[in-house]
Amino acid sequence: MTTRILIIEDESTIAQLERDYFELNGFHVDLCHTGNEGLKLALNEDYSLIIVDLQLPGMNGFELCSHIRKNKEVPILIVSAKDEEIDKIRAFNLGADDYITKPFSPSELVARAKAHLMRYIRLMGKQSQSPSSEIHIRGLVIDKSARRVFIRNEEVTFTTREFNLLEFLASHPNRVFNKTELFERIWGMDSSGDIATVTVHVRKLREKMEVDPSNPQYIETVWGAGYRFSV
Ligand code: CA
Repeated sequence: MTTRILIIEDESTIAQLERDYFELNGFHVDLCHTGNEGLKLALNEDYSLIIVDLQLPGMNGFELCSHIRKNKEVPILIVSAKDEEIDKIRAFNLGADDYITKPFSPSELVARAKAHLMRYIRLMGKQSQSPSSEIHIRGLVIDKSARRVFIRNEEVTFTTREFNLLEFLASHPNRVFNKTELFERIWGMDSSGDIATVTVHVRKLREKMEVDPSNPQYIETVWGAGYRFSV
């Protein structure tokens, strides 16, 4: 898959130089010459990295950077002739990831871009994994794949049934399940136990998780209905 990047630069010789270097390194490059056009592309297309010049016709690079950052996590690299510290600080405050001053080394620009890109890919990879493998609710972290639970930064051990019950309830936040439903889900329909074991297991979970088990913050009793994991 080719990595798509956007270059927003009004000086055509610089824009072409940048494009050539990125294309040589295997990137697909879109080029545009005004801030407004750049913003439209940045928001509507899916780029892995955006290079922004500061002094542009129409919307300038600072405004552009700020608008993009409000909507996207994509790395933004500023390439500018302005080399005052105040401009750099402003750009970073508006969400830029890097600031390179002109004249610049095209190889260094590409190397920096690659470094930002790798970090971005790692970050996105972690975020897309987390909903499926980890549940985070207030001070509670349930690592589903490792079957480990951390409460207020301390690991707490659970039996298999306790873990299954906790994971099931936490995976369906705010939904009420009665004891029969929970028993069937966790112990199985043809299990030889009885549904009183659900009550016992909920009590065990509360003892291990809650600061005050008689006033539970995670697994609540809904009188006459069952239990729910409250978020
Ligand atoms: Ca310019």
